[in-house]
Amino acid sequence: MRVAVISDIHANLAALRSVVADWGNVDAIWCLGDVVGYGPDPNECLDVVRSLTSIIVAGNHDWAATGKIDTVEFNQTAAIAAEWTSDQLDKESRSFFDGLPTILTVGDYTLVHGSPRDPLWEYIRSAQDAAACFTYFDNIACLVGHTHVPVVFSANQPAPTDRWGVRREPKTPTSVSDFGIGGKKRYLINVGSVGQPRDGDPRACYLILDLASGHFQHRRVAYDIRSTQERMKRVGLPVALWQRLAIGR
Ligand code: ZN
Repeated sequence: MRVAVISDIHANLAALRSVVADWGNVDAIWCLGDVVGYGPDPNECLDVVRSLTSIIVAGNHDWAATGKIDTVEFNQTAAIAAEWTSDQLDKESRSFFDGLPTILTVGDYTLVHGSPRDPLWEYIRSAQDAAACFTYFDNIACLVGHTHVPVVFSANQPAPTDRWGVRREPKTPTSVSDFGIGGKKRYLINVGSVGQPRDGDPRACYLILDLASGHFQHRRVAYDIRSTQERMKRVGLPVALWQRLAIGR
């Protein structure tokens, strides 16, 4: 069974369409939140995501846009965008977001936006951050988004809480198949961001995961960045938000 895992779409419809066109035949789609916020097409992006899957967890921007959480921790441009998004969201989108869970377990995988310890807010940026989170889930892997940076951390068994046992894996195709009886590793995988990558590569990012083999791979897809930027300019979203799309930072 082949699964496409998407996160941090941020109302970027052009980027979302490009990854949908890229993944070909998949058996399921999982979404790790932040469908909206920053970008120009919140309702349209939510419609596409809902047409693809019902396996969706809430992101901090989704709940900020509905007023379910406060934007005090947002920087100024994010707060402006959250307010703009809130004005755009129709009633149905709003109640859909409000009803989302913050954490889901699907088979051998935990799905969450930020971290299993603090689902909406925690950023896992380093092996040290990751080490603190391995005790908060107990299956093969936890799939996260939130930082907009694709990365894989692994923890050696049988001491997943041992800080020295956690390391950052190279960003190459890899597999969770060595987990299990006699297995040695568990994983914390950031799937990257569809609509606002921040790792220096402006292409849309998502993860393909093969449940049978455990093999997973980050994929990058070029999309029409300028069309999203033009939409953002037209609706009056902050300059810094559309400029960053071109550099992926
Ligand atoms: Zn995000």
